[in-house]
Amino acid sequence: MNTEELHRWDLAHVVHPWSYAGPSLMIAKAKGTRYWDVDGKEYLDALGGIQNCSVGHSRPELIEAAKAQMERLEYVPMHWNFTNEPAVRLARTIAELAPADLNQTYFVSSGSEATESAVKLMRRYHYLRGDTKRATILCLKQGYHGATILATAATGFENLQQGFGPLPGGIKFLTPPHVYRSELFGGEDPVEFCIRQLKQVIADEGGDTIAAIMAEPVLTVGGVIVPPAEYWPAVSEICRQHGILLVADEVVTGFGRTGAWFAGPELGMLPDAIVFGKGVSSGHFPLSGVIMSDTIAEVIKSAPDGLMHGFTYCGHPVGCAVASRNIEVLQENKLLENSKEVGGYLLGTLKEKLRDSPIVGDIRGYGMLLAVELVSDKATREPLQFKRQLLADRIRNEHAVVVRSIGANIIIAPPLILGRSEADTIAHALEEVISTTNTDGTSL
Ligand code: PMP
Repeated sequence: MNTEELHRWDLAHVVHPWSYAGPSLMIAKAKGTRYWDVDGKEYLDALGGIQNCSVGHSRPELIEAAKAQMERLEYVPMHWNFTNEPAVRLARTIAELAPADLNQTYFVSSGSEATESAVKLMRRYHYLRGDTKRATILCLKQGYHGATILATAATGFENLQQGFGPLPGGIKFLTPPHVYRSELFGGEDPVEFCIRQLKQVIADEGGDTIAAIMAEPVLTVGGVIVPPAEYWPAVSEICRQHGILLVADEVVTGFGRTGAWFAGPELGMLPDAIVFGKGVSSGHFPLSGVIMSDTIAEVIKSAPDGLMHGFTYCGHPVGCAVASRNIEVLQENKLLENSKEVGGYLLGTLKEKLRDSPIVGDIRGYGMLLAVELVSDKATREPLQFKRQLLADRIRNEHAVVVRSIGANIIIAPPLILGRSEADTIAHALEEVISTTNTDGTSL
């Protein structure tokens, strides 16, 4: 079949997620940090799939693990007290990597299923303890938790909720600790503002009606918002005082992206549960889950009617085998260290090259997770308006580097195997496109 025909069929028969009408780039092959399209053109994948291909594309060790597991046991349910060796081994490894007494894992397939499950499990825990009033979930504006209906309700972007209602209730939003966006805090210190607001919400709602706070330790879709050092310790302490569970959504940040197994604890966040996905299996198999404290798990497990919640693909043996091998590859190749090292180098290079641009407002990063926030006016910090993915498309088409734009942010999240010369290529591509962009978002 020729390429033109494939493109015609794509337009005629495929409905793409998070895409706008028009032709798509058809990728035929991937390896390491690279993609090749059907015409053989090579791209540097500076987005690592969607922030998930940590060990690089088509990693031989992971392919081998998947193949061997498929041949041995391709599938068995986790329901009705069935289990399988890869799931047990992975859960054991995760218990070793996770902080404090977060020793028990509930496996699902996607980030959205994991955040939904976390909400259900946290509510169920309170219910089983007789704390039946606790239902409300507090989330952050500009936080992202997925695309299923509850995850959409918990996602703090109005444009992502439009036209999908009615959305489930029980979610309330807090202001994110986005220091660069000082207009959010009305002249007050950002952390003081956020903590005062949290205390006020607890006072207004009643602390005993709030089941959990669910938030990303570093908000990715929001534009790689790294909270100030005092923020998470203060939120964690308030949660403890009021019996509110703290759920860290580490779907992006977990399993090495920020240079640690989990970003929350590094930032002083003391979660009762961690939601993970993406990087746990480096995109080689859909796998995600909720890691929870022994305290929560024991309550949920001991209910007389058991746990009435689950999906066909919970604890998929192939996904779990791939994830265990992925964790070994991250360890054997010191990729967490590389994430910090090369991520830090890329952040420094971007700052050096882009700092003086009239449309670059802020440059942020944490390990191999970076964002460049664009403005039309540096003084007013007015976000740059440009047509959807325009800048990301230009970076891809003119420089063969894949990134994404979300609102006025360009997000960079390469595989953790990235080298310094590749970091230079990414910085150069951004510099070229940004330096030929007007303050109204059009090309020079
Ligand atoms: N939580 C966070 C923080 C995410 O970034 C995402 C996806 N980008 C999700 C949840 C949802 O994951 P998925 O797309 O696998 O459902």
